[in-house]
Amino acid sequence: MTGIPPLIGVLAVQGDVREHLAALEAAGARTTTVRRPEEVAAVGGLVIPGGESTTMDKLVRAFGLQAPLRERIAAGMPVYGSCAGMIMLADRLADARPDQETLGGLDITVRRNAFGRQVDSFEEDLHIRELGGEPVRAVFIRAPWIEDAGESVQVLARVEEGPAAGRIVAARSGDLLVTSFHPEVTGDHRVHRLFVDIVRQHQRERS
Ligand code: GLN
Repeated sequence: MTGIPPLIGVLAVQGDVREHLAALEAAGARTTTVRRPEEVAAVGGLVIPGGESTTMDKLVRAFGLQAPLRERIAAGMPVYGSCAGMIMLADRLADARPDQETLGGLDITVRRNAFGRQVDSFEEDLHIRELGGEPVRAVFIRAPWIEDAGESVQVLARVEEGPAAGRIVAARSGDLLVTSFHPEVTGDHRVHRLFVDIVRQHQRERS
C-alpha cells in the first residue's frame, strides 16, 4: 500500500472508543475522535463503536451530531458500525422504544438484545469468506442481529450454531459495514483492515 494512511474517526460520545482507535491504527489507519459537529467533516471514514444505542442516540442528538452524520452517510462516507454501531446504522429497528432514533443508511431491520436479555455474552467462531483463511472469533455482548436485509445488502456472516443459527450478524452495503460482534477486543484486526481498505478504495475513486 502506498500513500498517506486514511484518517478514520471513531464516534466518541459513548462506548468502547479506545479499543477501536487501537485496532484501526494496527490496521494501518490514522485515527481521531469525533465528538463535535465540526469534526465530522474532517474524516475519510467513521467507526461507530459498541456501547448502548439508546444512550448513544440521545448524545448524538444532544451534541448536534445527528444531522451532520446523516448528511455524510447519505453522501457516501464509509462507516463501520459494531454492535450498538450497527443499530445506529440501521434504517429500521424491531421492537425498539418509539423514541429511539438511528442515523440509518443501511437497508436492514435490526433487533436489539436479540439473543435474549439473559444472554449477556457469548463467543463463536464464524467463517467469513471476505476475511479469508482462519475463522473469526466473534465476541457477542448483549448483541443485536439483523432481522432482515434489503436486496442491496451483502450478508457476510450468519450464526452457525445453536438456536440462533442462520441469523445475520455481519453485512455490507457499498461502503457501509456492520457486525453484531466486537472484533476490537480480540486482537484479530481483519475486520478493521477490511474497513481501512474500503476507506482507501473510496478515497482512490474520489480523487
Ligand atoms: N445492547 C446494546 C444496545 O442495544 C448493544 C450492546 C453493545 O454494543 N455491546 O445498544
